[in-house]
Parts: sequence; C-alpha cells; structure tokens
Amino acid sequence: MKKLALIIFALALFIVGCGGEKQSAQDKLQVAASFYPMAEFARNVGGNKVEVFTLVPDGAEAHDWEPSPTDLARLGKAQVFVYNGLVEPWAKQALTALSERKILAVQTGLGLYERSVEAAEDDHHHHTHSCTHGKQDPHVWISPKKAIVQVERIASILCEADEKNAKYYQDNSAKYVEQLKALDIQLTNLAKSAPRKVFVTAHAAFGHLAEDYGLQQLAVNGLSPHAEPTPADLQRLIKVVKEENVRYVFFETLTDPKLAQLLADETGAQIATLDPLEGLNEEGRKKKMDYLQIMQQNIHNLQIALNAK
Ligand SMILES: [Zn+2]
Repeated sequence: MKKLALIIFALALFIVGCGGEKQSAQDKLQVAASFYPMAEFARNVGGNKVEVFTLVPDGAEAHDWEPSPTDLARLGKAQVFVYNGLVEPWAKQALTALSERKILAVQTGLGLYERSVEAAEDDHHHHTHSCTHGKQDPHVWISPKKAIVQVERIASILCEADEKNAKYYQDNSAKYVEQLKALDIQLTNLAKSAPRKVFVTAHAAFGHLAEDYGLQQLAVNGLSPHAEPTPADLQRLIKVVKEENVRYVFFETLTDPKLAQLLADETGAQIATLDPLEGLNEEGRKKKMDYLQIMQQNIHNLQIALNAK
C-alpha cells in the first residue's frame, strides 16, 4: 500500500504539472469501471452514449490487483468511475489523489455487503479470518437481486453526469433489470425445487447468491481465492461433502482448481465450474460471452449439482 501511495502522489504532481488538459476527441461520456461486472453493467446502461474501459484486465484476479501509474492516469481521464467496493481497496485513495478531476464515482455495492450469521458459516475457516472479513462479503454482483441495485445506481450516476441522455439511460437500465429479474426468477425456482440446498465452491464468491435464494455455500478457500484452508478445514469439508452426499465440487475459471480437485478425489464427487464473474476467462473472451450468458451457465451447472442423485 505504501508503494501505491507514492505512485498516487507522483501521479497527482504529474497531473497538476501538466495543466491545460486537452479536450477529449470523443464526445461520449468516459466511464471507468474497476473490474469486469462493473464494466458489463455500465455498458448495458450506457449503451452507445458511453465509452467504458475496465481497469482490472479481464483475465486478471480482481482481488489482488493494484493500479499502476498508467492505470491511474487512465482513471484520471474518466468522467464517471463505477466500482463495487471492498474488492478495490485502492479506489478511495485513487479518488482522493484525483479529486481535482471531479470524477463522479459510485460505489455500487454500498450497504449490500452484510451477510447474515447463518450464511457466514459457509466460510468454514471463518474463525481465523473473522477479524479481517467479518460478515462483509464483497461478492454482491453474483446475486441478481443485488446486481439490480448496482445497475440502478449506475443508471443514476450516468443520468447525473449526462443529464441530456437521462431518459436513454433509464430505459436501458429498465431493460437490463428485466433480464436480471428473469435470472432472479430462475434461481428462485431452482432453489425451491432442488432436493439439495448445499453446494461446494473453491473460493467463497457465491455467499450472497446462496443467502438470497435460500441455498448454502461451502467454500474451500475464503473470500479471497488465496485464503487457503488448513488441513483441519479440509478434513471438515470432506466430512460435510460426504454427509450431504454432494455430487459436484465447483471450481472457478480464474483460480487454481487444485484444492477443489483434491476435495473431489477424496469424496468421489465430480468437478464442475461456477464462474464468480470477477473477470472473463479465455473461453468467455473468445465466445464474447456476457454476464447474462455466464449466469445462465452458472444456473445450469447449479441445477445439475443440486439435483444430482
Ligand atoms: Zn472473489
């Protein structure tokens, strides 16, 4: 963090020193998004009136990322900055350093991170990590119910930044929210009808999804993909997988499947993917898949796992 502070300080000097900023060639609203789902939501609301760029590269792990001076300079050119909160501990500092730029920023997950006590149990090594994480779980975009709130907040900030196109943004937002509501209905039905309510994932990215739909997530890693379990944690997890007769263990597209594989080997479960949508993997980029399509895939895979005999 110290290094980041220095970079930001140097950058602030650089920006101040440059003075007379050139008018941007594009007349589209320049929108910076922290990582993939934020960009995706901003593009859907902003349509052809905005130019969205993502700071965390699509194939990168969002939890570990920190901006370089070049990234901060790019952020400095944005009129609007869309971020989730908690995933981007660098955001506030960067915005302070860029305060002269009057960037309109929206922390789309604000007030949505809190998880209930019962569901926090999915973080089975919660005891060792509770001091740092508590019940604040950043992965709100993965639950359609909360994604809707995030999209509506993005719409509000775009309307504020570009009043003359407000109607356009509101219409786009309403259309996109309709599609998110369709996912919401699918998940509600799936969770209601499935005989098994427990699913096992690599990193604990699906807690909000689980909690909002009455499911239970058991995670091998913690809230960050690198919070690795102790051998005792793993033993506990193996026991639960066997007791609950879990047939599939999910791993993610951007993280190492090693532990999920180990768990599967120990319990006879199969491996399947559940995408936390923190970035786009290679397949997603190649096939130009979007949030809605990947969520469909997630729902499909969850359906199989929760119904498997
Ligand atoms: Zn995560």
